[in-house]
Amino acid sequence: MKSHARVVVIGGGVVGCSVLYHLTKFGWSDVVLVERSELTSGSTWHAAGGMHTINGDPNVAKLQKYTVELYKEIEDYSGQDIGLHMTSGMMLASTRDRFDWMKSILAKGRYMGLDAHLLTPKEAHELMPLLDPDQFVGAVFDPVEGHLDPYGTTHAYAKSAKRNGAEIYLHTKVEDLVQREDGSWRVITNKGEIVAEHVVNCGGLWAREIGRMVGLELPVLAMEHMYLITEDMPEVVEFNRTRGKELMHCVDFDGEIYLRQERNGMLMGTYEKACRPWSPLTTPWDFGHELLEEDIARITPELEVGFRHFPAFNRAGIRKIINGPFTFSPDGNPLVGPVRGMTNFWSACAVMAGFSQGGGVGLALANWMINGDPGFDVFAMDVARYGDYATLAYTNAKVRENYSRRFSIRYPNEELPAGRPLQTTPVYDRLKAAGAVFGASYGLEQPLWFAPEGVEDRFSWRRSTDFETVGAEARAVRESVGLMETSGFAKYAVKGRGAKAWLDRLLACRLPAQGRMTLAPMLKDDGKLIGDFTLARLGEGDWLLIGSGIAEDYHMRWFEAHLPKDGSVTLEALNLSLVGLAIAGPKARDVLAKLTHLDVSTEAFPFMAVRRMDLGMAPAIVGRVSYTGDLGYEIWMKPQYQRYLYDLILEAGAEFGIRLFGLRALNALRLEKSYGSWSREYRPLYGPVEAGLERFVATGKAADFVGRQAAAAERETGGVLRLRTFVVAAKDADVIGDEPIYLDGAVRGWVTSGGYAHAAGLSVAIGYVPKEIADIEAGWSIELLGEMLPARLQVEPLFDPSGARMRG
Ligand SMILES: Cc1cc2nc3c(=O)[nH]c(=O)nc-3n(C[C@H](O)[C@H](O)[C@H](O)COP(=O)(O)OP(=O)(O)OC[C@H]3O[C@@H](n4cnc5c(N)ncnc54)[C@H](O)[C@@H]3O)c2cc1C
Repeated sequence: MKSHARVVVIGGGVVGCSVLYHLTKFGWSDVVLVERSELTSGSTWHAAGGMHTINGDPNVAKLQKYTVELYKEIEDYSGQDIGLHMTSGMMLASTRDRFDWMKSILAKGRYMGLDAHLLTPKEAHELMPLLDPDQFVGAVFDPVEGHLDPYGTTHAYAKSAKRNGAEIYLHTKVEDLVQREDGSWRVITNKGEIVAEHVVNCGGLWAREIGRMVGLELPVLAMEHMYLITEDMPEVVEFNRTRGKELMHCVDFDGEIYLRQERNGMLMGTYEKACRPWSPLTTPWDFGHELLEEDIARITPELEVGFRHFPAFNRAGIRKIINGPFTFSPDGNPLVGPVRGMTNFWSACAVMAGFSQGGGVGLALANWMINGDPGFDVFAMDVARYGDYATLAYTNAKVRENYSRRFSIRYPNEELPAGRPLQTTPVYDRLKAAGAVFGASYGLEQPLWFAPEGVEDRFSWRRSTDFETVGAEARAVRESVGLMETSGFAKYAVKGRGAKAWLDRLLACRLPAQGRMTLAPMLKDDGKLIGDFTLARLGEGDWLLIGSGIAEDYHMRWFEAHLPKDGSVTLEALNLSLVGLAIAGPKARDVLAKLTHLDVSTEAFPFMAVRRMDLGMAPAIVGRVSYTGDLGYEIWMKPQYQRYLYDLILEAGAEFGIRLFGLRALNALRLEKSYGSWSREYRPLYGPVEAGLERFVATGKAADFVGRQAAAAERETGGVLRLRTFVVAAKDADVIGDEPIYLDGAVRGWVTSGGYAHAAGLSVAIGYVPKEIADIEAGWSIELLGEMLPARLQVEPLFDPSGARMRG
């Protein structure tokens, strides 16, 4: 065994072997993999081996596409048979609602070039005679699906990596990990020690335990999962004989089952409602190539539907039932990337679909380790998308919910209940008493809208029960004044003698003068956006950064990686130690004026000014800025003052008819200003010119900021895309994101967000299109729920294009 290696990958499942292969493929050959037993000894060996491209998140779908396309390459390179069967597949819908959902998935896939299409039940039956067409309303056919041999595939990765110089040590268990002074790791195994520059946790079923070796509690939990294999079925044999091919994969969403051919019979698996975590506290180290006890009663309700939908199963004998554990994160996506606060400790775990995603995970992680960037937008799988709220018990609640809903519809306005409420702010009870319907984001309860007595969210693809009320909230802001809670934003205090220089280097904007704020894009070396913030300069060496709440850990990881080592800058994520309220609308200044003796006229307190000021008896930070695009103020306070200020503002606003508004109204308001938001319009895929943030990028400033060269180059070339706003001829549903944008009937772009702009009375979509066509006014349409809706380019913001209201 080597005593030193550049990388030690822990775990020889499909994910570890893919990571190892990709590292070697990109030129790192001093890499080793240690496996406590044989390769595939975790969840990999008993997987059903199914794989597909379709995923609700286009960024994940891209990596799944890569994974599926990789299989021929590793089979050829390694000479290892992987038992690849590209059978194609179909997703089946038994209800109209489900079919609507499938159409939206299909539409999302269009601009990725996904070659899938709709089928009638009759066509579906023709392709897959085992199904009863009367049970379905339609299907989606996907040519790029199939299954493979998990053992062969894992070995193909491993052999390919070895061919490139990697070493693999079997029966070598990592027992401890100790970081050395220089940041490298002592990987302590039962066979000796390896000093490694980087460690990768691909521990699968034991990823949690490996995390604990370094003091991490990773949000990952294993669930039991069952599938059955039938005896030979004459219907299958007959199909193979007459058609000369295998039966295709099927996912029957309403039955919550999947099935495929296995030899001359069929395999059927379920994501059952009565799901069960496996080893919820700790995974036993002596768990080997074992299966769990079968428990057919638990999956009977799903099987009954499955057997009704596929009647031939009623005549088949069951050859065996497999019950095995595999891991999930709270949202079902993997946990990939560098772990915040640690040097060279990487995660590639919680991969629940190793055969659809393993290649993409390996590719992204190897890119990240070698080039410092994953090379794709992997936020959906980034280990930093969770904060400290993702505890063991939270993970347990969310994973069970996620597993049992794996094949359930998630409506655009649906908030899932497990693990809630967890984090609340001091005004939570007051908001709730006022009818707030909450959503949870980054573990925090946030008001979405304020429902009248007896009205609640009805989940739907179309405009729903909240429509009128959200409209009234939005209009109240435009007509008079509204109050909303803003604690969900991430807030960072940056202080110290080196703060100014550091921010100047980190952020692409020109730094604001004291008492002023600015919009502050943050770029990667390649000039793409890695953050967008509001930066407030409160005093000399006293700065406040405000950004997206869901990206707090993600941004902290970036900040910390760029922090000077000399202690000249102190940085703190304030989280809920600073909470917020915001007022917006033409009467907002009148409300504020009643709370302070200070002059808040535009002359004394102009747009983008920021002050520490007492409001009533409470100290606060007040910034004259509003994401509504209206006259407005963001007010930040310590949590102990929030209820006092909430009451005070409502009292002061009463004479103006102040109204509470939530995130849905805020979305409607920002759409009519064409304001983008992090994780939608602003992502590491886009440059500032493309995203319309160019005017906040000071390529001419003295400081050499991160991404400067690339930003200058983008300015020169103009980039590839443009963010544009469209007014959509919507009927009873509005776009939400990822719908394809067509020009003259051809897919040319995609929506990043949308909705009904209530105050303007128009349905709006924001999205990216190629720059060459970005200023064409006519000929646009957007596909929504299977319908092509005409759209027109909206050149100016719908509301207050001159900014007079906001600045006045
Ligand atoms: C019944 C069933 C059906 C499935 N069907 C499918 C399917 O059809 N399609 C699909 O894509 N996925 C399927 N899966 C999921 C799939 O199996 C997983 O996504 C995949 O196996 C995850 O691989 P992994 O490498 O992350 O983890 P694992 O396979 O668990 O590998 C982790 C490895 O790390 C090793 N290890 C752990 N700790 C240490 C240590 N301290 N030192 C050294 N080595 C260590 C373990 O021995 C193990 O070999 C199924 C799973 C089950 C249970």
